[in-house]
Amino acid sequence: MTLDCAIIGGGPAGLTAGLYTTRGGLENVTMFEKGMPGGQITQSSEIENYPGVTGEITGMDLMMPWPEQCQRFGLKHDMAEVNRITKDGDLFHVLKSDGTSIEAHSVIVCTGSSPRRAGFRGEDEFFGKGVSTCATCDGFFYKGKEVAVIGGGDTALEEALYLAKICTKVYLVHRRDSFRAAPNTVKRVKENEKIELVLNSVPDEVYGDASGVNGLKVKDKDGNIKDIQVPGVFVFVGNNVNNQTLIQEDGTYLCDVNEQGQVIVTLSMKTSVPGLFAAGDIRIEAPKQVVSAAGDGAVAAISAISYVDELLN
Ligand code: FAD
Ligand code: NAP
Repeated sequence: MTLDCAIIGGGPAGLTAGLYTTRGGLENVTMFEKGMPGGQITQSSEIENYPGVTGEITGMDLMMPWPEQCQRFGLKHDMAEVNRITKDGDLFHVLKSDGTSIEAHSVIVCTGSSPRRAGFRGEDEFFGKGVSTCATCDGFFYKGKEVAVIGGGDTALEEALYLAKICTKVYLVHRRDSFRAAPNTVKRVKENEKIELVLNSVPDEVYGDASGVNGLKVKDKDGNIKDIQVPGVFVFVGNNVNNQTLIQEDGTYLCDVNEQGQVIVTLSMKTSVPGLFAAGDIRIEAPKQVVSAAGDGAVAAISAISYVDELLN
């Protein structure tokens, strides 16, 4: 059986694409998700900026009803990892990690992104419990408190400036004494009285207890340890889009991507390949928010429905 639409990834973008394609009339739609549906947000201990959701709610709580809602309209979930998507004529082939392959008339890629981890002790243990990779999401929890930011690129410096508006002090920990970020951003950071630069230093260990993070130990070039006692540590050492499914056997991408591997899409979430759509964190200029990923999923689904209608009728 050829699927009308294959959705790769079951985060906010993939689940919303699943809801809109099935409810919008496509008959055979399968979402391929390698783990539990819900995506990255299920790692967050609290989400406050999803419209209409008030009160204390975890990322897991937020995402729990989404799969059930899609399944009511006929979305099928295949708990499988997709290795590669190829296109032959008008047909896509979705190659799964178990070696089997499924045919589809259209594909929506929603495999998201993964913030890079810096690799220091305690980083994984306290991730989502004081260690964060999202200042827009978690910065507010540290209102009136001190935090540490790790990294020296545009993201780290811009997020340090953002956090300085909310927090009493921001320690900016960077492994060199010069920054990758744009000169104007560096200037603004250096002029900000709330930001203390901790240069030529790498994080050594984040420590805490059952209630969360208590501090960060950083090591300078001479091996001296500095103990920064903060309840929040923000890691911005780069981001990887999960675009591996688009890489073809010869190493090229199935569709156009930019220098960072982000999928180039139109406002309709169309890629450079007819019938292939991308939504959520994987696309260019993604705001990296649940609400925007969900919006992208809806847009991609509407585009996929039109494409399949035209192809088959
Ligand atoms: P993802 O959520 O990354 O989902 C992609 C899915 O694809 C994953 O489930 C993954 O398992 C699956 N997948 C990947 N590759 C494959 C493959 N080859 N085969 C099968 N499945 C695959 N945003 C907010 O709006 N508010 C917040 O408060 C907030 N807090 C956050 C806190 C944390 C700790 C993190 C990490 C992120 C936070 N975000 C927040 C950002 C938000 O989670 C993302 O922007 C959003 O989840 C992106 O959705 P997505 O569907 O594009 O991708
Ligand atoms: P980035 O430019 O790759 O910077 C990552 C930073 O993290 C670097 O300073 C790097 O140090 C540091 N780092 C990497 N691994 C580390 C580790 N294990 N431990 C400690 N530090 C580590 O990433 P980004 O800031 O997310 O930016 C990504 C891209 O998006 C860039 O092209 C950037 O210009 C762009 N961007 C642009 C804007 C804008 O235009 N306004 C905003 C955000 C991002 P080194 O410097 O020593 O390598």
